[in-house]
Amino acid sequence: MAVLVTGGAGYIGSHAVAALAERGEEIVVVDNLQQGHRDAVTGGKLYVGDLRDADFLETVFKENKIDSVIHFAANSLVGESMTLPGKYYHNNVYGTLCLLEKMIEHNVLRIVFSSTAATYGEPENVPIDEFDRTLPTNAYGETKLAMEKMMKWFDVAHGLKYVSLRYFNAAGAHPDGKIGEDHSPETHLVPIVLQAALGKRPHISVFGEDYETPDGSCIRDYIHVSDLAEAHVLAVHRLRSGADSAIYNLGNGQGFSVKEVIDIARNVTGREIKAVIEPRRAGDPAVLVASSDRARKELGWEPKFASLEDIIRSAWGWHLANPEGYAKG
Ligand code: UDP
Repeated sequence: MAVLVTGGAGYIGSHAVAALAERGEEIVVVDNLQQGHRDAVTGGKLYVGDLRDADFLETVFKENKIDSVIHFAANSLVGESMTLPGKYYHNNVYGTLCLLEKMIEHNVLRIVFSSTAATYGEPENVPIDEFDRTLPTNAYGETKLAMEKMMKWFDVAHGLKYVSLRYFNAAGAHPDGKIGEDHSPETHLVPIVLQAALGKRPHISVFGEDYETPDGSCIRDYIHVSDLAEAHVLAVHRLRSGADSAIYNLGNGQGFSVKEVIDIARNVTGREIKAVIEPRRAGDPAVLVASSDRARKELGWEPKFASLEDIIRSAWGWHLANPEGYAKG
C-alpha cells in the first residue's frame, strides 16, 4: 500500500518523501510543479497535475493502491494571500475538497495535513497550544483553518481520520545535502538572509521594528524541515494504528526575532549581511511560538535539530552548494 504525498515536490513535501523513502514506504507523489521541483522528488512515482483536475486525480487513485495521504499541495505565502485571497480559496480550499471527495470515493480514510501556526492569528497565550483560539490574521491561515474544519466534518460524516500538523517556521535542508529550500519568488526569512550572505541580494529587509517585542522585530519559532518530515511519518503510523483524529503543533518552543535570526546567520556564514528596516508586512502576528508537548507525548516526536544555529548551518550548506537552487524544468 502506498502513501500519496500531494505537493511532494515542494520544500516540506520533498523532505517528507525522503523520510518515507528512507523507511522503505511505497510513495506516490502528486504535484502541479507550480512551486515544486521535479529534482526535489527523491522517491516514489511522480504524477504531474492538479488536485482540481478530476480526471487526473481519478487516474492517480485508480492506478495505485493508496492507504494514506499526506497533503501539502497548497499556496502558502502570507503576503500574497492578502492581495490574492481568491487564489488561496481556489487552490487550497477547493483543491482540498476535490482531494477529500476522491478519497471518500476510493475508501481512503487516513490523511496527514500540512497546517500552520497562521491558523491561530495573534496568540492569546505564548507558547501556543492546540486548544488556543484560532483567529487568523491573514487569508492564508484562514484557508488552512477552513481545510482543517472540512476534514473534521468528513470525519463526522465518513469516518475520515486526520492528523493536522500546525507548523511554525520551517527552515534548513536535508542533512545529506540532496534537497533543500528553493522558492520562486523567495519570501521566507532564512533563505532570503542566506541569499544576502551569498551576495545574491543587496540586503535583507526587516519587516517592522515597532512590534511589542524586545527588539521590535517579529518573533518566530524555527523548526528543522527534516524534523517536520519525521512528524509526518509518525502521524501516518499513528493513523494506521487506528488512532482518532488530532491536531498537533510542531515547533521548538523557543522564539527568535528577525534581528536575532540575521545575527545568527552572520555568525554561521561569517559573511556580512546588510539589514534595512522597512514597514510591517500585512498579516504578520508579532509573536508565534509553539508548545509541541502534545506531539512529543502522543506522536513520540523528538526534534533532532534544536538549535537555530544548526538549522541555519544546514540551510547554508544547501545554499552554498546550490546557489541557483534546483535546475529549472
Ligand atoms: N521577514 C522579514 N523580511 C523578509 C522576510 C520575512 O522581516 O524578507 C519576517 C516576516 O515579517 C516574519 C518573519 O520574518 O515576521 C518570518 O517570515 P516568513 O515569511 O519566513 O515566514 P511566516 O512567519 O510568514 O510563515
